[in-house]
Amino acid sequence: MPRFVRRLPVPDSLLFITGLFLALMLAPCSALAQSSQSYTTTRVADGFDYPVGKPNGDGYYIFRGFSPNGHLGEDWNGNGGGDTDEGDPVYSIAHGIVVFSEDYARGWGNVVIIRHAYRENNGQIAFIDSLYGHLKMRAVRVGQQVQRGQVVGTIGCGPHRMYAAHLHFELRKDLRVGMRRDLYPRNYQTYYTPRTFIDAKRNLRYEDRLVRTPINTFLKSNPNRIETEPIDLPNPPMTSTTSTPDTVRPVVPESVESVMDAETNPAAVTPEKSKSFLERLVEKMSHPK
Ligand SMILES: [Zn+2]
Repeated sequence: MPRFVRRLPVPDSLLFITGLFLALMLAPCSALAQSSQSYTTTRVADGFDYPVGKPNGDGYYIFRGFSPNGHLGEDWNGNGGGDTDEGDPVYSIAHGIVVFSEDYARGWGNVVIIRHAYRENNGQIAFIDSLYGHLKMRAVRVGQQVQRGQVVGTIGCGPHRMYAAHLHFELRKDLRVGMRRDLYPRNYQTYYTPRTFIDAKRNLRYEDRLVRTPINTFLKSNPNRIETEPIDLPNPPMTSTTSTPDTVRPVVPESVESVMDAETNPAAVTPEKSKSFLERLVEKMSHPK
């Protein structure tokens, strides 16, 4: 091989330009990667109540409980059975911030998810998501701060009246789940047994303070908004007794309004699909400025 080829030097200026180019490419990307995890503040929970029959669940019972790799929440029914509890108020179990409020496909219907900050026994601040499903009406929007006991919606029968009226209620310790339960372990690594958690934390020390709370943690939170064909009913409807109710049904305060009517523009409530670092890099390289 000729000597001049083997000894061909790489000019320092070329190295400098390459370095500069890489630095300029990567700096905005890493900034984006950090900004995709964002924070807000919310009030620390001073305790947790039941989501129906405020605050002690009076007039309701758990028709179907939590089971790992099975039913990932609890189904709360009115004592009257059937659809006697349809339209009953559903309450936020604690102070928190609404991180999801949508009519969602695949058997869910109207869903609200609220994120709560609370102090664990070890003194650390922890977070938990409470999910309220099959709602007839949603009364809160994403980003809204809610109080313990505030009405977040009403008990419904799910999409196309799939079920006898009941509340499907979940508690997640993993804040990434959102509506993608399929991506996470269906066990205690991801979930709490709702009633067990609530019973252990009915009364927490009152703290009049806001804490930094992560938001936008859901991965691919909404791949299929409900704008689809009617859904086939794969499961038989829930059976329940149809005796007369022996309790006075709670009422939804007149001040509570549905947020569903205002959602005429689906795009406005559909979160933008989050892009991976690689996707952003490719995008940046294909559109150099
Ligand atoms: Zn359920």
